[in-house]
Amino acid sequence: MAYVRVALDVPLERVFDYRCDDAGPDDVGRLVVVPFGRGRKVGVVLALTDHPDVSEDRIRPVHRLARNLPVLPGPTLDLLRFCHRYYHHPLGATVANALPTALRRPDSPALGPRPAYRLSSGASAPSRVVPSSRAFAQHALMVRLADAGTIAAGDLAPAALRAARVLLKAGWIEQCAAIDAEPALPVLDAAHAQPAPTLELTSSQQQVIESVRATFGTFRCHLLHGVTGSGKTEVYLRLIEAALARGQQALLLVPEINLTPQLEAALEQRFGAASLVTLHSGIAEGERLQRWLRAVRGQAAIVAGTRLAVFTPLPRLGLVIVDEEHDSSYKQQEGLRYNARDAAIFLAKARAVPVLLGSATPSLESFAAARSGRYALLELPTRAASRPPQIRTITTHGVKLREGLAPAVVDALAAALQRGEQSLVFINRRGFAPTLFCHECGWVAPCPRCSARLTFHARGERLRCHHCGHEEAVARSCPSCGNQDLRALGEGTQRIERALQTRFPTARISRVDRDTTQRKHAFADLRREIGDNQVDILVGTQMLAKGHDFPRLTTVGVLGGDLALLAADFRAEERSFALLLQVAGRAGRAGLPGHVLIQTAFPDHPLYRAVVAQDYDGFAATQLALRSASGFPPSLYQALLRAEAATEAQVFAFLDAAKQAAAPIDPALTLYDPAPARIARVAGRWRGQLLLQSAVRAALHGFLDVWLPKLASNRVRWSIDVDPFDM
Ligand code: ADP
Ligand code: ZN
Ligand code: ZN
Repeated sequence: MAYVRVALDVPLERVFDYRCDDAGPDDVGRLVVVPFGRGRKVGVVLALTDHPDVSEDRIRPVHRLARNLPVLPGPTLDLLRFCHRYYHHPLGATVANALPTALRRPDSPALGPRPAYRLSSGASAPSRVVPSSRAFAQHALMVRLADAGTIAAGDLAPAALRAARVLLKAGWIEQCAAIDAEPALPVLDAAHAQPAPTLELTSSQQQVIESVRATFGTFRCHLLHGVTGSGKTEVYLRLIEAALARGQQALLLVPEINLTPQLEAALEQRFGAASLVTLHSGIAEGERLQRWLRAVRGQAAIVAGTRLAVFTPLPRLGLVIVDEEHDSSYKQQEGLRYNARDAAIFLAKARAVPVLLGSATPSLESFAAARSGRYALLELPTRAASRPPQIRTITTHGVKLREGLAPAVVDALAAALQRGEQSLVFINRRGFAPTLFCHECGWVAPCPRCSARLTFHARGERLRCHHCGHEEAVARSCPSCGNQDLRALGEGTQRIERALQTRFPTARISRVDRDTTQRKHAFADLRREIGDNQVDILVGTQMLAKGHDFPRLTTVGVLGGDLALLAADFRAEERSFALLLQVAGRAGRAGLPGHVLIQTAFPDHPLYRAVVAQDYDGFAATQLALRSASGFPPSLYQALLRAEAATEAQVFAFLDAAKQAAAPIDPALTLYDPAPARIARVAGRWRGQLLLQSAVRAALHGFLDVWLPKLASNRVRWSIDVDPFDM
């Protein structure tokens, strides 16, 4: 007798044993379909066992071993176990993250032939006379089988399934494999790299490439600090080429789905479409499965994608690259709250291959690790093909702004227009104005379901909540005092777009934010228009800030940056610095000089001084000193218990009880008091949190292992967030 230990996607801290007589050591990592309760589930075999935790007479057999699919290789299982332990998320639910959704359904044809029924060879054709007894369902099924030949069990209604079991026992029908069309695999042309690239590497690029190549075949984490426009992409391409030349696969992670088309084009041009697979959440389920299979079967040499791609099992993985490693999009904010960058580092270690983290503004975590020698620090200090942009602050103090725009910014846009160059006006708020305000009594339009304000959207004159999606018509008068003169206060992308269109009536202006790019391909179309020089001025949010390479873009204006200075989050300045340098980095990338103007009421703030000087090292050193003096990551480690319930009282009762359950507390650990979340109420649900931290990572995790199983509540939804980003 053989038994398998299976991870199932259930919110339980355990695995499940099943009987599987023909399972062998090669089936570890195999997908299986198993009975679970009254239904069936897809799981992954984690191990074989001789001693199941269910008694011999009660243990249930596996329905199906998906031998038509490759197994998840050992290092992928190791990565999943690591995520399970490190993020304290149930193992089965963690494993489910690694599977394309098409493989998570028990009746998916991709899991191999489905069990089906057909008439027994000995059985005579059923009489067409309908019996009146309770054998009706059985008779009906016999007739259907006689007509159809085979019927998959999954296609039968519960009553028919019951009938099938009776007929099976009586020997009238027998089990067989359903005849499903085998999912077609794309044909793989021989991987053909294009003729060698003509670009001559700069000496710093060459050095970086040499340093990473020297570590091929071993684990090493490299942090590449390369200023914007320093040619990081070319470094990635050459390293991928080198990995491919060794017969290995490369994994390249990017933070944003919007960055994948640009990358896809570059990779395709260099390596040919056949060897490349891109993976992100925007790909239809069936297509994603096909791509995943090509990667898993080793047919695709390069996998490029957003955070979920880190779980793609790659049998010949030789190199991992994480672009824009500091980006918060790598952190998943629900379910398994993993950071794909950190998972990528673990993966590289498990596979004994190098990992390269690239950024113009590395996260302080990575920078600290590089300073201490844990990571190798590699630098591209200058741009490859242009000069650094010139960055200036424009004080708004005592300056008359028109629709939020300082005259100096408008002048710079006018000058760029005159020269026939492109400009970008960056403001990180979509909509027309962030608030609707009454000048008489101070009322601001609140969301009825959240502790947040509504944003004024010009289109249809609507108020919208950016947290819960609530929408309402704009009030004609103040609900509090009756004043009829309500004003839209502050600026969003729509307002700036409108103001610029009035100021520059002949300019071609495009707004780029989540509202204008919802349509599929909208962003790709826009990128093409920008590339074809059909746009003069871009108005956009951070969607435009990251990674894009628009050669004719020379001028960047930044509005509303001061808001970050008011934020309570200890990471606000780090994020703001990164964002400002990223946005500035869009200017003057291809030879034309770049100009960046940052509007601010606080031009002497150290943050802006560091941005103007483009001094990452100085900024990072100051921030790290501050963090360690006041006790923040990366000098210590955090975890956040998040709770959400219908009433505030329920949230706090749960968090108070959680704190009680923690006693006595390890002295290496600090447990703070329960506190409301930054937005205390979202979509009618209250949110609270409890922060834990420790200078000793093992102490934190040891504590969580013991503490979390004690927490329970059926009214409160809670989760643990290790290394939280957004607090
Ligand atoms: P980053 O990702 O570091 O911001 P990119 O990789 O987008 O920068 O490169 C910026 C620009 O410099 C691109 O237009 C790229 O073609 C160009 N470039 C990169 N390397 C070289 C090189 N060795 N010689 C000339 N131009 C280069
Ligand atoms: Zn009022
Ligand atoms: Zn809301």
